Amino acid sequence: MEVHVRRGDSLYYYSQLFMIPLQLIIHSNRTVNAQTLAVGQLIQIPGFVTVTYQITPGDSLWRLSGSRNLPLDAILLLNPNLNPNFLQIGQTIQLPLRVDWRIVSGKQDYDYNTMMFDIRRLQTIYPFLRVSSIGNTVLGKDIPEIEIGNGEKQVHYNASFHANEWITTPILLTFLNDYLLSLTNQRPIRGLTTSPLYVQTNLSIVPMVNPDGVDLVLNGPPTEEPSRSNVIEWNNDSMDFSGWKANIRGVDLNDQFPAEWKRERARNPKTPGPRDYGGESPLSEPEAIAMADLTKDKDFARVLAFHTQGRVIYWGFENLEPPETEAMVKEFSRVSGYEPVQTIESYAGYKDWFIQDWRRPGFTVELGSGTNPLPLTQFDEIYEEALGIFLAGLYL
Ligand SMILES: [Zn+2]
Repeated sequence: MEVHVRRGDSLYYYSQLFMIPLQLIIHSNRTVNAQTLAVGQLIQIPGFVTVTYQITPGDSLWRLSGSRNLPLDAILLLNPNLNPNFLQIGQTIQLPLRVDWRIVSGKQDYDYNTMMFDIRRLQTIYPFLRVSSIGNTVLGKDIPEIEIGNGEKQVHYNASFHANEWITTPILLTFLNDYLLSLTNQRPIRGLTTSPLYVQTNLSIVPMVNPDGVDLVLNGPPTEEPSRSNVIEWNNDSMDFSGWKANIRGVDLNDQFPAEWKRERARNPKTPGPRDYGGESPLSEPEAIAMADLTKDKDFARVLAFHTQGRVIYWGFENLEPPETEAMVKEFSRVSGYEPVQTIESYAGYKDWFIQDWRRPGFTVELGSGTNPLPLTQFDEIYEEALGIFLAGLYL
């Protein structure tokens, strides 16, 4: 919601008026010098939208402010030319409305466009989010990264490395949405007050590492050639892509990282296909390169990659993981009921590479159980299990 500064207003005053933490208002207006607000200047108030209201007989601003639990001055701020003593029936005014509902509706076929639409809406309502692109897919889509928080501790979560595991994207974005609701409305999640998490951490989220693959699973082959003919051929001429994990060039993005890549290749297919082909060399695919570049640019203290399925958390790689990893995975396990697994016969994954090159905690979390793609009927159950891990990844 935008407001126009009046004489004497301050960001602190807005924080009191709307009961929104001051730092969230400051971070929603990063280009604004809080000490020198100019009359008429636009200021973003996070966690609110405006609604148009038509005056009916008997209305007064006092009654409206009382019934909506808003200070009278919050209504006056949005309607600078309004004379509260001369309301006219049928006249329209703007009312501030606190957002206390989810923007992300995750229980649907959550393709790239759905995600981008939700990210834009979140960014509009919560301008303290920072959204950028970490690179482009084979088909040219921007791969978005969302950052939230103001802390030193850099935490990274990603989802949908694998195309038919796309449910991880709305699960992760639902957490982001609930975190935003908790911050702006100052309501704890599972008893946990989240404002310290915002102060102590900076959370980086890449909600869909493999947008081309997700759209292939959900919407069928792209119109672009040669991608269209290729994926149909690699899928044995079937138009059912529900078993597809790879990107649009038939490369499995989680077999693309330079961490025992040759060992992984030796046991996997040597040609493009729906899954497990690691490419002709490590980091040959733009999506994997984008993730590697992001990870090198940032200083992540820990990374969590969300996949489906199995209700397990992989936490080791070649005994290179630092000792604190075990205590962390025990907490993740405690809050989710998922089983920690130190190592399996698997290499060249994102978390493997992170552990190997940074010697910091990296996790692959396999959400839910069943056969991929997991059905949306499991959404709430998976979310409840994942929520503890999302929170612990920030408070640990
Ligand atoms: Zn996976």
